[in-house]
Amino acid sequence: MPSALETLVKILKLEQDTGYRNTAVIGGLQSFANNWAGDAHRQARRPEHHQLVDEMVSKLRGYEALDTIEARHEAVRYMLGRVTGRIPPPDGLPPAPPDEQPAEEAGPPEPPAPDEAAMPPDESSVSLADENTPEPTPPAEIEPPGERADEGDEGEEGEDAEASAPPAAKPHPGFQRGKPRPALPADEAIARFSQLQETPVTVLHKVGEKMAEKLERLGLTSIRDMLFNYPARYDDYTRMRTLNKLRPGEVTTVIVAVQSVVRRQARGGRPYLMMTVDDDTAKMRVTFFGQMWLERQFRRGSQVVLSGNVELFRGELMMTNPEWEMVEREHLHTGRIVPVYSLTKGLAARTMRRLMNQTIDEYADQVPDYLPESVLSRTELADLNWALHQIHFPESHRALEDARTRLTFDDLFIFQSAMMRQRRAWQSAPGQPIVVGDEWLEPFKDNLPFDLTTAQRRAIREILADMAKDVPMNRLLQGDVGSGKTAVAAIAMGAAVRAGKQAALMAPTSILAEQHARSVTDLLRLAPDGEHMQVRLLTGNTSEAERQEIYAGLADGSIDVIIGTHALIQEGVQFNALGLAVIDEQHRFGVEQRGTLRSKGTNPHLLVMTATPIPRTLALTLYADLDLTIIDEIPPGRTPIDTRVIGLSERERAYGFIQSQIAKGRQAFIVYPLVEASEKLDDVGAATDEYERLSKEVFHQQRVGLLHGRMTPSEKEDVMATFARGELDILVSTSVVEVGIDVPNASVILIENAERFGLAQLHQFRGRVGRGAHKSFCILVSAAPTSDAQQRLQALEDTTDGFKLAEIDWKLRGAGDILGLRQSGGAEFRLTEAVNPRLVELAQREARTVYAEDPDFAAPEHQFLAWRVNALLDWRADVS
Ligand code: ADP
Ligand code: MG
Repeated sequence: MPSALETLVKILKLEQDTGYRNTAVIGGLQSFANNWAGDAHRQARRPEHHQLVDEMVSKLRGYEALDTIEARHEAVRYMLGRVTGRIPPPDGLPPAPPDEQPAEEAGPPEPPAPDEAAMPPDESSVSLADENTPEPTPPAEIEPPGERADEGDEGEEGEDAEASAPPAAKPHPGFQRGKPRPALPADEAIARFSQLQETPVTVLHKVGEKMAEKLERLGLTSIRDMLFNYPARYDDYTRMRTLNKLRPGEVTTVIVAVQSVVRRQARGGRPYLMMTVDDDTAKMRVTFFGQMWLERQFRRGSQVVLSGNVELFRGELMMTNPEWEMVEREHLHTGRIVPVYSLTKGLAARTMRRLMNQTIDEYADQVPDYLPESVLSRTELADLNWALHQIHFPESHRALEDARTRLTFDDLFIFQSAMMRQRRAWQSAPGQPIVVGDEWLEPFKDNLPFDLTTAQRRAIREILADMAKDVPMNRLLQGDVGSGKTAVAAIAMGAAVRAGKQAALMAPTSILAEQHARSVTDLLRLAPDGEHMQVRLLTGNTSEAERQEIYAGLADGSIDVIIGTHALIQEGVQFNALGLAVIDEQHRFGVEQRGTLRSKGTNPHLLVMTATPIPRTLALTLYADLDLTIIDEIPPGRTPIDTRVIGLSERERAYGFIQSQIAKGRQAFIVYPLVEASEKLDDVGAATDEYERLSKEVFHQQRVGLLHGRMTPSEKEDVMATFARGELDILVSTSVVEVGIDVPNASVILIENAERFGLAQLHQFRGRVGRGAHKSFCILVSAAPTSDAQQRLQALEDTTDGFKLAEIDWKLRGAGDILGLRQSGGAEFRLTEAVNPRLVELAQREARTVYAEDPDFAAPEHQFLAWRVNALLDWRADVS
């Protein structure tokens, strides 16, 4: 839904464009005012927003009575100026006083923590510092335990205690932003930002060449990189667990004192350290393998922070190879939320924290804000400089939340703006209209072996309508596994051929390409002129001779439809007249590959397809450069897949069940989250190890294959093809099996450690079975004792709707899983857990409002934004 302000801006612009004749809307602006007022008031959140709405309504009502073009011109200019914040409110309407509005309605949803509940929301930092914490320790006295021992092991950088002192608290603006700061002129803002980008990390105290190299390994070369290098997580020293509250199976952080450290030998002769630690409530054992030097680090009595999985071993609590850190006394004293950054070899946590602290202190206030003032005041987002301080060194949970909200909004807003700009660029190039008549389309549909679903028909209608235009189509076809996207694509490709053009379909693997070639060939034969359509397959397996022949056929136009893999975007491929490019499983391809395929024609129409369900709200941002069609219907007559969540004790029975299915001639998938057991996640079944066990012990009479992401593409293809031919009974796999491989004979999929996957991804796995005539089963094995995980998995038993599952995932686990699927560069949304529906909608609304008013970002207050947006687009290196 567009925002009320966006609608108003559009109408006012239209009124401008049509010469101020009060014709932009039927009935005139005065009648529009009445409808608009309701929406606008509903969306308003602060008194001055309501004042603005009332003012606009009265102007709109008075518009008709203005009898000169000049007066109307002036009225429209004024209204646009007010909406965009260029013109301040008239004198009669005072701006809301900065300190009187409690932030309750628009505040973040997190309930106040007990320690914050008594604080007035606005002066938290001051009261926290003054009343709740001891005087800051003078720097000279800070000598955290373990400091001396650090030196030997942490490399060249010694710690200077001074720099580790907590940063000065900044006032919390919350939603009281006070008087807007005068915006910098765009060129000055750009110059400042570029400067931060060009300032090398070596300007920081004690950062020399060696340290700079380490930082570079983390992708940090400039001060700008440092500023936006958000913590990977936080250790909350205000709310840690005590040992007596630990629960086995949970990853927890504790602060403990070291009682003893002894060297032991494992049975195989491997030495390890056995440490006993305690706090005031209980004792715990901790073992460290392969880090014998820690013996010197952990002295009796030293305070350590341990973070790891809690296990129960012979009735005792224990952790194995937890992440650890010496306690820094100042953190304990101030009860801070401490940032934890990604590290690299030779870069200690405290060193990194010191560097970040220095960066923030010296540079955070120099970052110019690119958000136009109008957006800032409408959204009530925190100040950018303040947010940068707080994201790194938060003074409270509330502050951290507000900072996250602000910075996540920025990512979403810039991304959305960039996508809209990209779309505008594409659409400004003339396309090639492809028009087919009903005399072709209707018999084609009638000849299909099934009735198209309503959703398929709607998709076809939308796609053909797009293709008929002289603007190139850019459409995303999203539909659950098995929803019948191939038939829709086949009809679109047929239409292109019918109109005298060529069509190409690119899939991520040869197996998929071969499957598509078979089904598309079969489908196109049913078109009225189908027997004349030349369909060919081009993959990495195509012989040299055939490839040359295909190249020639594509160049002279004798081949109408080409289906293939990356082989389609090789240099030798040239089309005579590519009219439609289709990309399947689009998230497997980068933006560049999409662009390369497109560039093989003259602005061909583009259809990208995905089976990855993404909540609609989020899709509208992630794919704002595309139009969206969703097939939300599965063809009738499918037997739903029987899904069960089971515990570890039932696993043997599940194996028995798999054997019985294989005895009936069926095949099975067994999926594990990781390739190899890592020391960190040693409770995770690893595909490689488990493959050994399963093939030698449990399923020694069956034929078992292994598939994982570290195999080469051709090794992977070989295994999958062997399985697809029925020459393997069981395929043991990591998550790579997710790609739409079609093995109709497979009837069981068993997924280990199911709680580690997102629901949408589990749903994708589940879609690997149930593709044939056989009743199919999905078994989710989960050891998770927590009811949260159980409940989440339960959703898979209850629903087969991928979009519903994606929504649930989003609510329960945040957007991380979903955004992780978008593999076009991880840096786009760094604070994934904060990407919530409310924020996504807000960013969309604001980006669209700015875009509606100024699509070229030509206004002075949008120039810096334009610069940032272009930087993102350049970075994505889209060739189109
Ligand atoms: P996906 O959307 O996952 O790519 P496919 O296009 O591979 O799905 O279709 C899955 C199966 O459903 C195919 O065997 C296809 O022939 C069949 N199919 C497609 N549309 C219909 C329909 N309307 N009614 C019945 N079966 C259909
Ligand atoms: Mg498909």
